[in-house]
Amino acid sequence: MKFLTEYLEEAKSRNLYRQTTVYEPLDPVHVRQNGRTYLILAANNYLGLTHCPAVRQAASAAAMSYGTGSGGARLITGTYPLYAQLEQRIAAFKGTEAALVFNTGYMANVGTMSALAGPEDVIFSDELNHASIIDGCRLSRARIIVYRHANTDHLAACLKSTPCHGKRLIVTDGVFSMDGDIAPLPDIVQLARRYDAIVAVDDAHATGVIGPGGRGTAAYYHLADQVPVQIGTLSKALGAEGGFVAGSHELIDYLLNRARSFIFSTALAPATVAAAAEALNQLVRRPELVVKLRDNAEFVRSALTVAGLKIGAGQTPIIPVTVGAAEAALQLSEDLKSEGLILSAIRPPTVPAGSSRLRLALSAAHNQTELGQASEKIAAAVKRLAKKKRVKI
Ligand code: PMP
Repeated sequence: MKFLTEYLEEAKSRNLYRQTTVYEPLDPVHVRQNGRTYLILAANNYLGLTHCPAVRQAASAAAMSYGTGSGGARLITGTYPLYAQLEQRIAAFKGTEAALVFNTGYMANVGTMSALAGPEDVIFSDELNHASIIDGCRLSRARIIVYRHANTDHLAACLKSTPCHGKRLIVTDGVFSMDGDIAPLPDIVQLARRYDAIVAVDDAHATGVIGPGGRGTAAYYHLADQVPVQIGTLSKALGAEGGFVAGSHELIDYLLNRARSFIFSTALAPATVAAAAEALNQLVRRPELVVKLRDNAEFVRSALTVAGLKIGAGQTPIIPVTVGAAEAALQLSEDLKSEGLILSAIRPPTVPAGSSRLRLALSAAHNQTELGQASEKIAAAVKRLAKKKRVKI
């Protein structure tokens, strides 16, 4: 098929071609490939819980007790006690009445946006929101107004100038996945009150990361009772797979009846659900993990700044090293791999053209000796490329 070849050739010629790479995981932050060990600085395993003995034990016990697959959708073959327990734990953790688990964070966003809004409604969406939010918004067939990133003046202007005869929904990432900044939720909540809009926050990168005990963006701003739709994933800090929505009983009941990505997909495997539930347990019992993650983020942010890189202000473990051209990001990623570091080149369409970057994502499982050495290597590699005038720093 000619169009396939044309697309792939074009992607290659523009340095936008993507491919998977096979690595053997050793622990939360190291992998092996062809006999060499690499440090990963690109995963979302924020608390290292993928390898926590209690989490692994819970997963394997669930597989032995209940089998390897769920066998059907939750509304058809029933909900095992494990699912109900996980949802209760998520609701207790977020301080909401109820929660609903989806199979991925992606499906939580797609299902929620498309269930909450319809053709008569308007969704106001931050321009850097994750693809799953964008896809959910499109699927809803609502009118979509994209406001400038984290710019609440622009959001206010959009709310003011957009006629709406149905519902208004404002949706934002809590911690932005590629920039690591935190959404200006207090202003968003205020605008939502003024314009009678519903606020939905996607805490994929905030759960287990920011707020007291890692409770997410609304908790970080002490606004937990003002954000009716709190979305998250079980696949990042919680070391398993799946997504969730936390909110009122009524919201959860509505989503259970309306969110197609929930209704029409086979439920998660018991081992996955048990792993997520135990990971949440660990997070509640060991808040020091969140503190360690924050320390590691501060450590690397300061090391890169001292080494002369402009990474901008911030506090989360997502640190963008923006170099501009896709080719430069790819080159840096390759240079650093030859030095034992895995850092992916993030290019369009994941980020806007001209803002290709390396995206560091840190974990509580990293040790600061390795992080210090890695920061020096990253800064040196960026400077080498800058000398060849391939990037601006
Ligand atoms: N929201 C955001 C902001 C994300 O970054 C991601 C994943 N990268 C998702 C949702 C989707 O979550 P999951 O990987 O669990 O499907």
